[in-house]
Amino acid sequence: MSRKNIRLIILFAIITIVGIFSFQLFWVKKAFNLQEKQFNERVHVALTNVVEEVQRLNKDSSSIYEPVKQISSNYYLAATNDTLHPYLLESLLSNEFKERNLNSPFEYVVYDCFTDSIVFGNYVDLEAETKSLVYRASNRDKWDKVSHYFGVYFPSKQLYIINDMGIWVVSTIFLFFVILFFSYTIWVILKQKRLSEVRTDFINNMTHELKTPISTIALSTEVLSNPNITKDPERLSTYAKIIKEESERLKNQVDKVLQMATLDKKRVQLEMKNVNLHKVIEKTAEGFSLILNANEGEINLSLKATNPIVYGDEMHLTNILFNLVDNAIKYSQSKPIVNISTENYQGGIYLRVRDNGIGMTREEQKHVFEKFYRVPTGDQHDVKGFGIGLNYVRKMVKQHHGKIQLKSEPKSGSTFRIFFPKSKNGK
Ligand code: ADP
Repeated sequence: MSRKNIRLIILFAIITIVGIFSFQLFWVKKAFNLQEKQFNERVHVALTNVVEEVQRLNKDSSSIYEPVKQISSNYYLAATNDTLHPYLLESLLSNEFKERNLNSPFEYVVYDCFTDSIVFGNYVDLEAETKSLVYRASNRDKWDKVSHYFGVYFPSKQLYIINDMGIWVVSTIFLFFVILFFSYTIWVILKQKRLSEVRTDFINNMTHELKTPISTIALSTEVLSNPNITKDPERLSTYAKIIKEESERLKNQVDKVLQMATLDKKRVQLEMKNVNLHKVIEKTAEGFSLILNANEGEINLSLKATNPIVYGDEMHLTNILFNLVDNAIKYSQSKPIVNISTENYQGGIYLRVRDNGIGMTREEQKHVFEKFYRVPTGDQHDVKGFGIGLNYVRKMVKQHHGKIQLKSEPKSGSTFRIFFPKSKNGK
C-alpha cells in the first residue's frame, strides 16, 4: 500500500473516530438532559402534591400561586401557608417520592418565615432507609415569600440520573474500547509498515554492498587469468592487492550480517572470561592504522585505567570497539581523528571513543541505537552501512551489564562512552 493511501486511511479513521465520539457525546448529553427534565418534573409534581396535602390536612382552602420553585439544579423550595410538622412532611415527601419512583436520597429543611431560619432538617435515604439530622442546607438560598416553606435537596441527583442511564454508560464504555482497539490497530499497521520499509532498504543495501566487492574480485581475476600478466609484475601485484582488499571488505560485510543474526536471538551465549580491554583496544587500533593512513587520519590512545580487566566475551568486546571506531572513521568528512580512552570508575571501567566527525542532531541521537536506523541523507548514499552496528553495540553492552551513552553535536563530533561494571566474581 502506498504511503499516500495509508495517510488517507488514517485521516478517514481519525475523522470517523472523532465523528462517532462526538455523536455519542451529543446523544449522551441529550439523554442526560431529558432524564434531568423528567426528574425535575416528577419532583415538581410530587412537591405540589405534598403542598396540597398539607393544605388539605390543615383545612386550608386558599390556593397558593406557584407553590414550588427550583432554586438550583438539585434544590427545590415549596411554600405552605401554615406551620409544618417535620415528621408529617417527611412521611408525605417519602410517600410521594416512592410513588413517583424517585429513589434518590434527599435532604429536607423546614424554614420559619418569621425568623427566616431552619426549624428542622433531615436526610432521608429511601433505599437504605437511613436518616440523619442535617442542617447542611442552611446556607442555601432562602425564599422571599412571606409564608412558611420547606426545601428539598437531592445531594446525589446527577449520580442518580447517570445510574438511570445504564444503557448509555455501557454503550459509551463499549465505544471507548472500540476506539482503543481501532487506534491500536492503526499503530500496529504503521509500525509494520515502517519495519517493512526498513527491511526492504536493508536488503537493497546489503545486496549492493555484497555485489560490489564480488564484481571487483571477478574483474580482477579475469585480468589475472590473462597469461600476459606475468610480464607485468607491478600490475599483477596491484590486482592481487585489490582482491585482498575487496575480500577483506566482503568478510566485514558478512560479519555484519552475522552480527545481525546474533541480534535476532533473544539471548546470545557469551564466552565469558577475564579480558584485558587495553589489549583489545591496541589490537583494534592497529587494524585500523592502514585505513587511517590512507585517509590522513590518526588514532590516539589514552589508556589510563589501572585495572583494564573486563569480565566478558573477547570477540564481542572486539566487535563493539570495531563498530565504534569504524563509525568514527566512516562519519567524518575531513581527516578523521579518533581518540580512545579508558579510566577506572567505582571499580568498573569507562571506555570512550571520541571522533571529530559529522556528529548527530538530538533527534538523530534518539534513534541511532534502533535496528536498521540510519541517519537520513536524502538520495546521497556516500557512506555505506546497514544500520545495525550501534544496535548490536548497545545489545552487547547490555549483555555485559554495562551502559552506553552518546554525546554528539552536529559538525563537531561524537563521543560514545561505555561503562563496564566490576564483575561479580571479584575479578
Ligand atoms: P551503519 O551501518 O549505518 O553505520 P550504525 O548502527 O553503526 O549503522 O549507525 C547508525 C547511524 O548512526 C549511521 O547511519 C550514522 O548516520 C549514525 N552514526 C553512527 N556513528 C556515528 C558517528 N560516530 N558520527 C556520526 N554519525 C554516526
